[in-house]
Amino acid sequence: MKLTFYGGATHVTGANYLLEAGGLRILVDCGMIQGSRYSDEMNAEPLGYDAASVDYLFVTHSHVDHIGRIPKLYREGFRGVIYASEPTAAITAVALPDTLDKIVSEAKACDCAPLYDRNDMEGALALMRGVPYRQRLRLSHAVTVEGHDSGHVLGSTAWEFTIEDQGVRRRIVFPGDIGNPPSTLLQDIDYVRGVDYMLVESAYGSRIHEARSERRQMLLDVIRETYDRKGVLMIPSFAVERTQELMLELDTLFEAGDLPKMPVFVDSPLAIDITKVYGRFSSYFNAEAREILKDNRGIFQFPWLTFTPSVPESKHINDVPAPKIVVAGSGMSQGGRILHHESRYLPDNRNTILFIGYQVEGSLGRRIRDGAKDVTIFGNHIPVRCHMRTIGAYSAHADQNGLIEYIRQANQGDSLKKCFVVQGEEDAAQTLADRARQELKVDAVVPRLGESFEL
Ligand SMILES: [Zn+2]
Repeated sequence: MKLTFYGGATHVTGANYLLEAGGLRILVDCGMIQGSRYSDEMNAEPLGYDAASVDYLFVTHSHVDHIGRIPKLYREGFRGVIYASEPTAAITAVALPDTLDKIVSEAKACDCAPLYDRNDMEGALALMRGVPYRQRLRLSHAVTVEGHDSGHVLGSTAWEFTIEDQGVRRRIVFPGDIGNPPSTLLQDIDYVRGVDYMLVESAYGSRIHEARSERRQMLLDVIRETYDRKGVLMIPSFAVERTQELMLELDTLFEAGDLPKMPVFVDSPLAIDITKVYGRFSSYFNAEAREILKDNRGIFQFPWLTFTPSVPESKHINDVPAPKIVVAGSGMSQGGRILHHESRYLPDNRNTILFIGYQVEGSLGRRIRDGAKDVTIFGNHIPVRCHMRTIGAYSAHADQNGLIEYIRQANQGDSLKKCFVVQGEEDAAQTLADRARQELKVDAVVPRLGESFEL
């Protein structure tokens, strides 16, 4: 059995792992590299392996850094089966066309060839099959696989492979991104225990979130402050999960009478489309969220909420007097309508920008969060004079304690032979690996890009 790290090694984004076992070549995730100024060049490079000889692709979840290069895989010759959970398959079918639009318009702007085209994307989507959690699939006489809820976004899956070779049975788990329970919407993590090998993400490998109990109060405080200043609250938000969780949280706060009445706009066509997909998979929600659905209140709607899918509707937000809340993509301010709102509202000290999701190194969101006094948006110099707040506890990612807990569960009975720390910046990955070695006596390593391991 051999494992090679073609992406996601010492990088948060670009997850792409090749497992060669039991006569099969199995890929897990094929994500876009994001954030770095070299991202475009890195994404454009060949994948580094013979795509046509890959038998299966397993997708952990529908974030672009896990699915964004799937059409490129198709373009390079992959024609195997793509497995994902049912919600992941449905969200991917909405998210990839949006990614394609961005790729095509960026390629036009620089007069270069796009990373892939519509044929590649449609070909790839046709290979995709949605499967329920905990259904064991047999891939060959030697290899079976089963998906477990990783609690990160709707449908996020830890894929657990079992390989039986000459009477020896080994298990390896690819959790993708790991959630930060309890989630307002999702069920708790379905831990995979007693495996031989694992990968573990490390986006927050060196950080501890605020207590979950404090986050609702922190959100309330930020909204009230902005309301009192008659300002605009900008919330850059990921279209998958962050936006839906935030809507549910605001709904609960409005319903309880805790919030001043102010208009809330969800200004992201992608988030709006994905919210519709969420509505189809309520059986994947936790009991509390299902209860709200049953109340007939409607899960993603409340009286002051307006969806603005079209451009004229989006522009109309400018005419609505503050105080108001604008939730828009992209989550790291790398494109999307949030840029229009940031151009307009960052320079005014009555306003607030609130970060609730991960900001990758090199992104505009990261620069603002790190305190930049001015930024460039659409070629214009924009001073940053508004208030800036961060609430880490709304993150969909486990913090260091949550990641250690995931490793501890996977290591039940001291089963782990090796733990590969991926999907984090170098420092975060090393910090997590150090703690896993010291505290759990686990052989934790941080693989390099392109590095292979015989297991
Ligand atoms: Zn993710």
